[in-house]
Amino acid sequence: MKPAFDVRELAVPGIRGLQPYQPGKPLEELEREYGIRNAIKLASNENPLGPSPLALAAVQNALGDLARYPDGSGILLKNALAQKLGVLPAQITLGNGSNDILELAARIFVAPGEKVLFSEYGFAIYPIATQAVGGTAVIVPVRDWGHDLAAMRRALSPDLKLIFLANPNNPTGTWFNEQVLEEFLAAVPAQTIVLLDEAYFEYVTEPGYPDGLTLLPKYPNLVVTRTFSKIYGLAGLRVGYGISSPEIADLFNRTRQPFNVNSLAQLAAIAALQDTAHFYRSREVNSDGMRQLMEGCARLGLVFIPSAANFISVGLDRPGAQVYEALLREGVIVRPLASYSMPRHVRVTIGVPEENRRFLAALGKILK
Ligand SMILES: *Cc1c(COP(=O)(O)O)cnc(C)c1O
Repeated sequence: MKPAFDVRELAVPGIRGLQPYQPGKPLEELEREYGIRNAIKLASNENPLGPSPLALAAVQNALGDLARYPDGSGILLKNALAQKLGVLPAQITLGNGSNDILELAARIFVAPGEKVLFSEYGFAIYPIATQAVGGTAVIVPVRDWGHDLAAMRRALSPDLKLIFLANPNNPTGTWFNEQVLEEFLAAVPAQTIVLLDEAYFEYVTEPGYPDGLTLLPKYPNLVVTRTFSKIYGLAGLRVGYGISSPEIADLFNRTRQPFNVNSLAQLAAIAALQDTAHFYRSREVNSDGMRQLMEGCARLGLVFIPSAANFISVGLDRPGAQVYEALLREGVIVRPLASYSMPRHVRVTIGVPEENRRFLAALGKILK
């Protein structure tokens, strides 16, 4: 029997207004829909080298144990991270991707109607996580496409519950320096949580770029998040983490699902941490590829937003959706940015040299 109303109306107010996150188009889908082969995906800021062979071996070795629940406390991974980062295991919260930590922060600290502050063109999950808990977004306009921390400081108020900062930010690649961050944190009320999202931390080589972990002792209201999805090449396994005071970590650990990080992800992440050669190779491929794409875009007369991460957002003289579609037909998946209110940009992930070359050639052909 058909109900007299749309069952979606039964959802709580925050969920009713939710717009789903728009992921990058999967390669298989493009190849199937367009009848193309050898397509390349430069749309989701994944590591073009893939994961460390050590991580793959760890996954292979663990397949026999899949009937078992994972270690719900993730103690081996937390110990490995604690040792590498110079923090206590009790300061770490493991997440099903760092996305998990972002959503938990909203659930833990924001009640319906309460305020969450973030930047215009901030990462797409910040408005979604805010909306899902019925929070009220306070959005501060950017300056030169990046977080304007001076303006965000002026937007501070004692009733603010949570602040999302991304350094570097996605989709703009912009970053802020240590002094600007410190001035901001010093002005934030002690009862407001600051979530500093460092998903691209490992890629940044710019002098003056801050390491959020060094600020934790001074700011007990600070949470830093990082991930194995980007430089470590493990996006498909879903593992990220938050680092905070043990008290905040306790809140996260009480709220998260008991087995939120699967066993393969835990083992792969531990192995990935040990492969420093793969880590440095990944950084080098990225900085070389960044140079290749910047030079290529300049040759095409395109203006791009300078980026400290593993992607670059390119400005266009026509709708990005049109260029995105045309690139699909050339077998190149990038990310259109209309959903970020950047309708004349596309974001491209740095690939290996041949992928970057194919992107630039296809773009040149389209824009000619
Ligand atoms: C990719 C990304 C994340 C999180 O990715 P996970 O796969 O969930 O760890 C978080 N923040 C930003 C800014 C990102 O670009």
